[in-house]
Amino acid sequence: MRAQAAILRDPGKPFTVEDVSLAPPGPGEALVRVAGAGMCHTDMLFRGLAELPMPMVFGHEGSGVVEEVGPGVTRVAPGDHVVMSYDSCGWCGRCLTGAAPYCDEFMARNFSGVRADGSTGATCSVGEPVAARWFGQSSFATHAVATERNLVVVDRSLPLELLGPLGCGLQTGAGSVLISLNVRPGAGIAVFGAGAVGLAAVMAAKVAGADEIVAVDLHASRRELALELGATRALDGADPDLVAAVGQVDHSFDTTGVPAVIRTAIAVLRPGGSCGLVGTGGEITLPPTALTGRTLRFIFEGDAVPQEFVPRLIRLWRQGRFPFDRLIRTYPLDAINDAERDSASGATVKPVLLPGT
Ligand SMILES: [Zn+2]
Ligand SMILES: [Zn+2]
Repeated sequence: MRAQAAILRDPGKPFTVEDVSLAPPGPGEALVRVAGAGMCHTDMLFRGLAELPMPMVFGHEGSGVVEEVGPGVTRVAPGDHVVMSYDSCGWCGRCLTGAAPYCDEFMARNFSGVRADGSTGATCSVGEPVAARWFGQSSFATHAVATERNLVVVDRSLPLELLGPLGCGLQTGAGSVLISLNVRPGAGIAVFGAGAVGLAAVMAAKVAGADEIVAVDLHASRRELALELGATRALDGADPDLVAAVGQVDHSFDTTGVPAVIRTAIAVLRPGGSCGLVGTGGEITLPPTALTGRTLRFIFEGDAVPQEFVPRLIRLWRQGRFPFDRLIRTYPLDAINDAERDSASGATVKPVLLPGT
């Protein structure tokens, strides 16, 4: 079928919206008409990596309507409203024990840009193959072919075009707090970086009943937003004595990936405390004693099983306890380069592209 997609042909160049042709969904796959697609930091981080196949369609926070299913698909049907999350194999030890973010095939299915077997079902207008399976979806397009396994069916009364970010960035921030760090009522947590992932963590910490929620960011506007969303204190990341300003907390969560910030996130932990990392920006070096009685781990997708966690976030949103829509600004698909610029500058916390407009 014919579709339109924002294609990256050169890592250093802007996206171009072009006509593409998509093969019908194969076994275990579904064709989704994309209603909205969030732009996640990972899209921008990977656009410059030489090992990725080009041309390529990014986008991994898509939501939309199932139009067609391939052979053997039983869990979703045409007409279903779905959120597209990360992909996993379903059969490895990690998948079978509920730890799908650490699936044996996670990298091949999410970061390669193509199917796990290396194939792609998309071609551009001159017949050249286009990598179109980024995170099992490549949703910066009017249509995406996903897998049955990375789809989460949602209620048709919801604002479908806004839900895509629940499948990655928001799930990562909220899952890290509610599942990975298992923040308990009365606990204290410091969140470093108040972008979409960090603000999701702030909202989740409030849901968890944390007494103290310290948000740290360089942008005053984001500190302000963090306070509105549940932070009890918001600190400027440029403070030369940030460790003292934060004080001692039970948990910390770094979304920046900046080594100096990660060292601060570890230094503010009480013995027995735990620190979660989701950003990568360089190597960290620490004396082993910096981890005395403390736990440090890198987290994928908030340790969440999307079919369970996305509906939970939607329930919390309906109750007014996870107002993620406040982070979103929408753009038409052909304004994708404006969305990327606004995300990089901090002007927009979470851009969502609307391919149907
Ligand atoms: Zn697996
Ligand atoms: Zn993401």
